Amino acid sequence: MRVQKTFEALFELEEIRGLFREALPGGLEADEEARFQQRIARLKAIVADLEAGTGTPAVTKIAGTIDIRSREEESINIHPIQAAGRLTTEARKALISYGDGYSTCDACRKPFRLDKISKPGIAEFHEELAAFVNMDQARVVPGARRGFQAVAGTLVGKGDSVIVSALAHYTEFLAVENAGGVVREVPLDARNIVTAEATAQKIEDVRTETGKLPVLVMIDHFDYQFANEHEITGIGKVARQYDIPFLYNGAYTVGVMPVDGKKIGADFVVGSGHKSMASVAPSGVLAMTEEWAPKVLRTTAMVGDLTRRKFGIKEVEMLGCTLMGGTLLSMMASFQAVQARTLQWQDEVKRSNFFIDRLLEITGSRVLSEYPRKHTLTKVDTTASFDTVAKTHKRRGFYFSDELSSRGIVGEFAGATRTWKLNTYGLNDRQVRYLADTFVEIAKKYELPVSG
Ligand SMILES: *Cc1c(COP(=O)(O)O)cnc(C)c1O
Repeated sequence: MRVQKTFEALFELEEIRGLFREALPGGLEADEEARFQQRIARLKAIVADLEAGTGTPAVTKIAGTIDIRSREEESINIHPIQAAGRLTTEARKALISYGDGYSTCDACRKPFRLDKISKPGIAEFHEELAAFVNMDQARVVPGARRGFQAVAGTLVGKGDSVIVSALAHYTEFLAVENAGGVVREVPLDARNIVTAEATAQKIEDVRTETGKLPVLVMIDHFDYQFANEHEITGIGKVARQYDIPFLYNGAYTVGVMPVDGKKIGADFVVGSGHKSMASVAPSGVLAMTEEWAPKVLRTTAMVGDLTRRKFGIKEVEMLGCTLMGGTLLSMMASFQAVQARTLQWQDEVKRSNFFIDRLLEITGSRVLSEYPRKHTLTKVDTTASFDTVAKTHKRRGFYFSDELSSRGIVGEFAGATRTWKLNTYGLNDRQVRYLADTFVEIAKKYELPVSG
């Protein structure tokens, strides 16, 4: 009820905020003042309920149809893609403050480009972002996918080959397809790792087959299926040997662990704001070396045939400006915390392994990802443990989600009891212990053998 009342209080404050907007210019007139006082009285009642944990839900919908999303307040969320995109409190403040449309544009001055705006400190943020991943230039983009798209749009022509991995994300396929290119996948080794050697072999294969070298190597540091760590530095070296630009896909790394683009030998570093940088979707970062900036960040040369208009320094691949409101400000507001948290990555990995070790004590459970874990995202196989219960349970695989959610844990793929993924990112010691205890408790309830 306290969570419910917190939302109601926030909504009531937004109503009050709305009154100020309506009352312009100047202050509240008599009737508006009366409505203001009414709202304040309501707010006080909500706060009283909030304090005491009393009352009943008075508001359950936004705009009459949209449910309140209180998942992050009410549950431990182990959703594979949501864990590191949860907003910081500062980001939520930025979102309510900068939610209006083009809110970044208040002090946009000539030459009119997002990354040049200094109030709020967007220009400075761009410099900090580039430094954060140790690259020369950075742009904010609407998701990692738009970073791939900008690079592919620049480097990939019709029929060109692009090296990706056999675990590549679908958005990498689509970015290449959109540019008219063809993906060529590097096979995995027996441990489901993309090696430098296999990458070199694939480049050779492409050259033999097509008579041309691939135009881009785009590889994930940690893939989305197993979150295995791939030989990213070695792959960077191979790409350099062939003089093929290398895009480091840090969707699962930038914002959670330290990333040094220069050390990796990357020409491009791409990160995802909503996946790993505690930011509103769609957001992300595309960083590059000075060498590539003139190409990927080329400015428009187009001239209108009638009006002779030109748009000067607008960057073609960015379509001018990218994140023009709450998305960017949420990213900026989270940035300090995000920088700091990357230094705590080893603790996150430790907690990930703590949970997995406990899960493995439930006989029959397996880890499909590399183990010990180097990431907080893990693919597990519970076919021989939790799934054996699903076979005879009247709720089938859903019994497991029911058991978890009744204990305040959400985010596992509902109904999946065979192979599924979870992410422990952001859970503290107490929460991760609770998570592990809960799995063991459910196992015991269904008489699954537990060792240790
Ligand atoms: C999530 C993910 C993406 C897509 O990121 P967006 O920011 O949503 O575009 C790309 N690659 C990998 C490996 C991912 O895990």
